[in-house]
Amino acid sequence: MKFGGTSVGSVNGILSVKKIVEAQQEPVIVVVSALSGITDQLYTTARMASEGNTEYTLEYQTMLARHTEIIETVIPEHKIQPVLEEIRLLFNDLSNILRGVYLIKDMSPKIIDSIVGYGESISSIIIANAIENAIHFDSRKIIKTNHQFDKHVVDFANTNVLIRDMFSTAPKVSVCGGFISTDSQTNFVTNLGRGGSDYTAAIIAAALDASILEIWTDVDGFMTADPRIISNTYVIEKLSFSEAMELCNFGAKVIYPPTIFPVFHKNIPVVIKNTFNPEAAGTYISQEKEKNVSKAIKGISSINDTSLITIQGLGMVGVIGVNYRIFRVLAKNGISVFLVSQASSENTTSIGVRNADSELAVQVLRQEFAAEIAQGEIDNIFSEDDLATVAIVGDNMKRTPGIAGKLFGTLGKNGINVIACAQGASETNISFVTDRKSLRKALNVIHDSFFLSEYQVLNVFVVGIGTVGSNLLEQIKKQQPLLMRKNGLKLNVVGIASSKKMLFERSGIQLDNYRNHLMENGLDASPKRICEEVINMNIFNSVFVDCTANHEISDLYQTLLENNVSVVTANKIAASSEYQKYEKLKDISRRKGVKFLFETNVGAGLPIINTMNNLINSGDHIQKMQAVLSGTLNFIFNTISNEIPLSKAILMAKEAGFAEPDPRIDLSGKDVVRKLVILAREAGYRVEQEDVLKNLFIPEKYFKGSLDEFWATVSELDAEFEEKRARLVAAGKRWRFVATMEMGKCNVGLQEVDSLHPFYDLQGSNNIILITTERYNEFPMMIKGYGAGASVTAAGVFSDIISIANIR
Ligand code: ADP
Ligand code: ASP
Ligand code: MG
Repeated sequence: MKFGGTSVGSVNGILSVKKIVEAQQEPVIVVVSALSGITDQLYTTARMASEGNTEYTLEYQTMLARHTEIIETVIPEHKIQPVLEEIRLLFNDLSNILRGVYLIKDMSPKIIDSIVGYGESISSIIIANAIENAIHFDSRKIIKTNHQFDKHVVDFANTNVLIRDMFSTAPKVSVCGGFISTDSQTNFVTNLGRGGSDYTAAIIAAALDASILEIWTDVDGFMTADPRIISNTYVIEKLSFSEAMELCNFGAKVIYPPTIFPVFHKNIPVVIKNTFNPEAAGTYISQEKEKNVSKAIKGISSINDTSLITIQGLGMVGVIGVNYRIFRVLAKNGISVFLVSQASSENTTSIGVRNADSELAVQVLRQEFAAEIAQGEIDNIFSEDDLATVAIVGDNMKRTPGIAGKLFGTLGKNGINVIACAQGASETNISFVTDRKSLRKALNVIHDSFFLSEYQVLNVFVVGIGTVGSNLLEQIKKQQPLLMRKNGLKLNVVGIASSKKMLFERSGIQLDNYRNHLMENGLDASPKRICEEVINMNIFNSVFVDCTANHEISDLYQTLLENNVSVVTANKIAASSEYQKYEKLKDISRRKGVKFLFETNVGAGLPIINTMNNLINSGDHIQKMQAVLSGTLNFIFNTISNEIPLSKAILMAKEAGFAEPDPRIDLSGKDVVRKLVILAREAGYRVEQEDVLKNLFIPEKYFKGSLDEFWATVSELDAEFEEKRARLVAAGKRWRFVATMEMGKCNVGLQEVDSLHPFYDLQGSNNIILITTERYNEFPMMIKGYGAGASVTAAGVFSDIISIANIR
């Protein structure tokens, strides 16, 4: 049983360890780490001393105090004094070594090794005394290393014999420190590398043919990805040795990479368990391969310390021995290579190494190939630093087609560039290199798309919290639990902005009280800042939702789409602006694989644009459209009567929330023109607003002055209007403000319709559209219903958002 630093780093932890070990039925060997943080602190203290910084003594004192306090709390009363004395002796030695380093101001690797080993030497004595009837063993006497390439490599021949001797008559509970070892030749203290206590435990387990190796840590098991980067990871129940090896070799910090090999070799299963939640089943790692092939991928791991070395040149093509020389010179210099990618043309070889090795790697490779570089057979050899490598792992990936396609498709759709990639023929691992800043996003999208996550996430930014925006947020809040339960979709509102404030939270904003939260904690907003924040957040599967009528916000779409953020908008400005701009937005979204949706630009929540798209995509042609598209105007013409004059009807429309903020946008036909232009474009015609012929019912001059002047003077029109209206009613007709498009020719204007016309019976603020196509010719298709109002518009926006998640 190996207990990590967090397990033994606090009183609580040690008491749990004690309880867990004392409950064991069979004999057990306990391997412990240093108290959490102590190894780091030992390194820092040694460095401070070597730099002549007297404050190293403070660090030393803090460590001494922390251990003393732990001893006084967890050790049985009668043993406190002797243990304190034993530990103080060790601390004295440590203090003397540190003083030597301070005086000589030098620190050889040998001295550092001896300093950092104190962490485990001390912790193991404390734990041995805390557990009832446990006996302490010194692992420095049994774990032996040899020096190779500046590293300590386990001397198994020696080590295995010593372990078997030491534990030939083992007591029920033996306790020893992890990590520490001694050199086979010199007997100097060495260690197995950072995180090496896991390895110590595995080496002992293998030497003794243990029935099981338990690694006790601070998480419930091996997770599908690093839980510090992804929030919705979960524990993997079972892993094969090869899967575990692939994952931890590649940054899954939960197990130190070399750990698996000794136990794999002896077929000893490994269990990862949580010291702080012992009831949890944990992860079982064994030889067994899982039969359930539904999950091709078991886990994702990553390292953000990657440098890519590129060796390139036409002179390499077909030449035998280039790779041999590359790897020989790297090996000779102790540089470890963890990823290799070479195109079949042999013209480029890319090699992944740690950042710390990159300078040396480039230097020695340039030396090795100096002659070829001089002759131009090989171009300059260079490195690209500060990258990250991600690996997806699973035995069942083997012979499952489509995994790489899905992986790279997902990355591309989210704007993540793959710099290099590699998949071995074992097919259990696909690795790729990307920018470090894309790492979080890459892990999230991969996790999401391979359904490792129990749910899929759509990250939403809502800009504009007027009537439509606030209705939308209300609807999202109400629908969130159901979408999660029934569709496995987590709709995460990660940003909200009004015209004044903006708020961003990666983990999702609580929608109960967002308005106050925004006012109190929001940053000052401007369209530019909103855009910068959204892009900098670089969050995956994201949608920008525009619920404003603002010009500057609509100007952001292009940049957002370029950055792989989908756009859903109730704002008509962009889609009705110059054709070129509209076309460009559509092109970018297509190229980037994201969506630009604006169904609510016409007829609020009515499915008009989607329907037209479906007709066209299935080969139909739209020839003609006739429509009443202004809920406001229809409301006004349905409301005026001998009691309600025109001016009052306009006011009522505004108060009912149907009109645009400035009702003149409706009255001037501008709003209808915009809608008609959008429809004509979606029908496949190149139309500009200026091309639309207008036949207005309110004279131009009322649109020239301020909004206040308009309200003050509009009643001048009442009398004449009432006169015309009375005549119309007598003739059995009604007014409708009709938009027409016929083979790309557009006009809008007031029409008188009689009772046989389909527009005659259009109630309230409803909209109607008749679409004549090649297929729907004699009898046009008709769509009719509420065409205005915040809640139906919000619902339309909502359904655009949902369609991006692609759920059914
Ligand atoms: P210990 O001190 O017990 O050795 P470590 O800190 O070395 O613990 O390893 C456990 C930590 O590894 C967890 O707290 C977790 O943050 C991190 N970790 C990274 N990747 C994974 C993963 N795939 N599964 C579980 N934990 C992971
Ligand atoms: N204490 C050592 C480290 O922090 C070894 C370990 O905890 O596994 O690296
Ligand atoms: Mg560890």
